[in-house]
Amino acid sequence: MSEQYRFVLPEKEMPTAWYNVQVDLPEQLGPPLDPAGNPLSPEALLAIFPPDIVEQEMSRERYIDIPGPVLDILRTYRPSPLSRARMFEKALGLPDDVQIYYKYEGINASGSHKANTAIPQIYYNKKAGISKLTTETGAGQWGSALSMAGSQMNMDIDVFMVAISYDQKPYRRIFMESFGAKVHRSPTTLTEVGRRVLAEDPDSLGSLGIAISEAVEIAAANPDINYSLGSVLNHVCIHQSIIGEEAILQMEMAGVEPDVVIACCGGGSNLAGIGFPYYRRRLDGKTNTRIVAVEPKACPTLTAGDYRYDFGDEAGLTPQMQMYTLGHDFIPPGIHAGGLRYHGDSPLVSALVRAGEIEAMSVYQNDCFDAAMIFARAEAHLPAPESSHAIAGAVAEAKAAAEAGESRVILFNLSGHGFLDLASYDRYNKGDLVDYDFASGTVLGEHTE
Ligand SMILES: *Cc1c(COP(=O)(O)O)cnc(C)c1O
Repeated sequence: MSEQYRFVLPEKEMPTAWYNVQVDLPEQLGPPLDPAGNPLSPEALLAIFPPDIVEQEMSRERYIDIPGPVLDILRTYRPSPLSRARMFEKALGLPDDVQIYYKYEGINASGSHKANTAIPQIYYNKKAGISKLTTETGAGQWGSALSMAGSQMNMDIDVFMVAISYDQKPYRRIFMESFGAKVHRSPTTLTEVGRRVLAEDPDSLGSLGIAISEAVEIAAANPDINYSLGSVLNHVCIHQSIIGEEAILQMEMAGVEPDVVIACCGGGSNLAGIGFPYYRRRLDGKTNTRIVAVEPKACPTLTAGDYRYDFGDEAGLTPQMQMYTLGHDFIPPGIHAGGLRYHGDSPLVSALVRAGEIEAMSVYQNDCFDAAMIFARAEAHLPAPESSHAIAGAVAEAKAAAEAGESRVILFNLSGHGFLDLASYDRYNKGDLVDYDFASGTVLGEHTE
């Protein structure tokens, strides 16, 4: 057994192609539907996305070459580290044959895996002659990633930030502005949607649905402005596959094959990123790796949702997609993992869960913070509240294996750092976090274990 801690992939061995799981699905996805219920035409997508992205959204190619200029910018922070969590294993008191590895996607300044898709999205838009991108941000991670990548490639970025987040998370706004983005407190007077909302309620605190509508309205109305989305869609899952492609090479360096790969799941992109390449590896007969999605019990889309067509946004303005959903009008409770508060899920992830190829579990946020705290103190990381769900999943796997006296190699994705989520840690440290349970519709109050 290797005594090594970190498995460093040399820069020149960074994968140069993305994996597109659309080709390898057990059943083909139902197409996205327009408001009239007809399959969405590529033209409708071309009003807000560049041609390369629209092509990837429906691509039938298994591998897609990463363009050279995209590789150049990815190399500013990739390959990302993969480590064996030896100190964490010790802190959990695990036997030698239960091993935990983690891939760390928080090394870029914006702090999460989202930069992996922000970079190619900006590249393809620039290539199409687009001068500005609009987007929405709730928790702030996506706006941060797009702003950072925008500054690297000289693309103007306009972020519609939900008013309440704008007021409560000044550091995220300052981050985006420092990278040159324009941040609007949504609802604004710049759009029809915004003006209508403000006329009804001048003190509106906004919502993700309103912010999406504002960003899309501006992109649809201006030929040189496009819209950009940070999760859920097929092209985003394609771009994130670099995580798993690197992980496969790094686990080979470690000399072990993971029995299970675990990631948190909000819109599904970081799970797709680390999981889909292992799904292909399983199809190729090279591994038996299980893939596990971990979601909040407060918003358990995969474990308690229905598999059907639904809108991507709260307001019902986007095309409908076939996916697991809790209903587009479901407003999740205010848990601290803002990035996991999404009523739906990636159609690709949903299809593979539906087919039994990916497993799903749900956890309470206090259990996530408990696990994150043990991990933080052992490994000297401060995980994002979203990523703490993957850690809780890894702890559950490890304990189950240890109790059963079985060996297990566990790999999880540490999707981001929590440096701008310290208010959440403060609340946890003070014992003020409550748990929510979608299934019973209750607030569990003080958590007892
Ligand atoms: C946005 C975010 C997530 C959730 O998004 P996915 O598309 O499900 O990956 C998870 N972790 C971090 C750190 C995030 O910023």
